[in-house]
Amino acid sequence: MYYNSILETIGNTPLVKLNTVGDDIEGTVLVKVEYFNPGQSVKDRIGLKMIEDAEEKGLIKPGGTIIEGTSGNTGMGLALAAAIKGYDCIFTTTDKQSKSKIDILRAMGAKVKVCPTNVEPDDPRSYYSVAKRLSEEIPNSYYPNQYDNPSNTQAHYETTGPEIWEQTEGKITHYVAGMGTGGTISGTSKYLKEQNKHVQTIGVDSVGSVYKKYFETGEFDKNEIHPYLTEGIGEDIIPENMDFDLLDAVMQVNDKEAFLMTRALAKKEGLFVGGSCGAAVHGALEYARTSDFGKDDLMVIILPDSGARYVSKIFNDDWMREHDFLDAD
Ligand code: PMP
Repeated sequence: MYYNSILETIGNTPLVKLNTVGDDIEGTVLVKVEYFNPGQSVKDRIGLKMIEDAEEKGLIKPGGTIIEGTSGNTGMGLALAAAIKGYDCIFTTTDKQSKSKIDILRAMGAKVKVCPTNVEPDDPRSYYSVAKRLSEEIPNSYYPNQYDNPSNTQAHYETTGPEIWEQTEGKITHYVAGMGTGGTISGTSKYLKEQNKHVQTIGVDSVGSVYKKYFETGEFDKNEIHPYLTEGIGEDIIPENMDFDLLDAVMQVNDKEAFLMTRALAKKEGLFVGGSCGAAVHGALEYARTSDFGKDDLMVIILPDSGARYVSKIFNDDWMREHDFLDAD
């Protein structure tokens, strides 16, 4: 038995029970481990889907160039699909991202342009603006724009949602995911709520992002925005893929909570995952502890990527101490 290309191995990731972390909680807590995808993250799902939809609509032609602003994982998903399908890739990213993420994108044949993190999204130097400008300048290029592209949400509606529904035999009661572009949480939640409208969806946001306040008050408050180190979740914009109507609660998690949980997942559960995974689990367990989540309930938490991309940060004691995330001893 073999696959016709690596792209056929995307999806159908395992669902695994947490046994030690959160053992104070009654009820079942499962995690969906997305590093089993060939590009080691949940974003392989949307990389392939955005390219296939663009091909179908004639938006990208053979020999074309894919240009995207990405924190790394979407770039990897796009680069994988582009390698098989014969497209070039140019990615813009921010100087906050792990160097190893950027090196990996270059290893996959992509060109990467690093832009400053702490500028306004509409500043011409921001990674959003640079990606947009390059896509206007370079002929036969395609700018997927994962923030506003409906194929992002649709990929999760077509794959992540149905997988979770089948793997839990329809018994899921609570779905938890980090909120970045919104594609994962919106697409999966839409599918799950269509199967059972009682499924609760809990979004996990970073302290320093606008999402939680926007969800609770409808107000876009720039004062909420401040730098943080958790990669992949939280935003300073409201993307079209973030559908707040599908959310029942939003939990905000700070860097220290996220990273200590990330390390606990490796040591106690054997799950070597990234910082947004620690954030998602921390937020999910806090939700379970402070809500009526009970013994008959079944929660599924998305773990978007692998710890391999964060060895020099979250898994490095010196780096953790420098940021006061670990005690001196
Ligand atoms: N975690 C990581 C590591 C990510 O790269 C992303 C994507 N930005 C997310 C979580 C959030 O997923 P989404 O963009 O689908 O909301």
